Amino acid sequence: MFGLIGHLTSLEHAQSVARELGYPEYADQGLDFWCSAPPQIVDTIKVTSATGQQIEGRYVESCFLPEMLATRRIKAATRKIVNAMAHAQKNGINITALGGFSSIIFENFNLQQIQQVRNIKLEFERFTTGNTHTAYIICRQVEQVSKPLGINLSQATVAVCGATGDIGSAICRWLNARTDVAELLLIARNQERLQLLQEELGRGKIMSVEEALPQADIIVWVASMPKGVEIDPTQLKHPCLLIDGGYPKNLGNIIKHPDVHVLNGGIVEHSLDIEWKIMSIVNMDVPARQLFACFAESMLLEFEKLYTNFSWGRNQISLEKMDLIGQVSLKHGFRPLLMVS
Ligand code: NDP
Repeated sequence: MFGLIGHLTSLEHAQSVARELGYPEYADQGLDFWCSAPPQIVDTIKVTSATGQQIEGRYVESCFLPEMLATRRIKAATRKIVNAMAHAQKNGINITALGGFSSIIFENFNLQQIQQVRNIKLEFERFTTGNTHTAYIICRQVEQVSKPLGINLSQATVAVCGATGDIGSAICRWLNARTDVAELLLIARNQERLQLLQEELGRGKIMSVEEALPQADIIVWVASMPKGVEIDPTQLKHPCLLIDGGYPKNLGNIIKHPDVHVLNGGIVEHSLDIEWKIMSIVNMDVPARQLFACFAESMLLEFEKLYTNFSWGRNQISLEKMDLIGQVSLKHGFRPLLMVS
């Protein structure tokens, strides 16, 4: 059995979902209540592969909300993640994806130190961040969506915001080694990590967001931001492809410009309907078939009986692992989302 640990994008979102799912006692509560709410299994999932193989999974709502980070309720945030992991393990789930901020909190606050959660000793090999599949899917989105928009990668400048992150660094590695992209712009706050990445790649220009955006033909947003930023589309190149891979979304505004094309990054579409309720709650356009690539990674590991923390730690995603997860993704019927708005 596979599992998905997820969370909602804001307090407002959580309140509306609680109402919708029939938990009225959660719907009128503020952030303090969510800080103390325990994890819950709220969905049972059935997935059929393109090969005909069937698997079953569970969705674990961690009750974490990004406002907990914004208001420095760090202890509550970290407790949410380890409690959700313990809950997944206690329920016999073999491989569980840590969606959205779960893996970021796990890494940033060194949660591998907290192995004991009450009477459960966490077995980390039962968990994956899902970041290898996410990075692979975003790279394929860059490759497959740019051409029809008239953007030729061999002449294109690609800006990666969140370049030094787990997903961002893997994307940079792939674009550097597997494509003939003309220029890479590397954006993050920590300059030392940016320089290390630049050394590893042997290229790439380190830039601020303000400097980079007007120069980019393709912008990949994979920064870990609890709230999105506002972008003025008139300041961007035309055409420009904006791939928003963040959860919550890195772009705070809905961009309406005929030459700025926005794509939901790190989203896959399955070739068959999935039996679940959860994706309509996170506002996917086609909830029976579209999902986060990190969640799909735990499904792929279950299909392949690869019970291992396939994606783990930080900045360890290799091209070989991206190739492997890409192959099984295709085999089981997943495709990158290619529809731009
Ligand atoms: P990491 O924490 O590993 O990396 C985050 C990156 O963002 C770092 O480079 C960090 O560098 C940078 N960053 C953070 N804040 C800012 C800022 N204000 N301005 C510029 N750069 C910033 O995160 P991951 O790589 O694991 O995840 C990245 C995003 O992808 C997250 O939003 C996550 O929720 C989402 N995600 C999506 C998935 C999917 O299936 N679609 C799956 C998993 C994650 P620095 O701190 O130096 O600024």
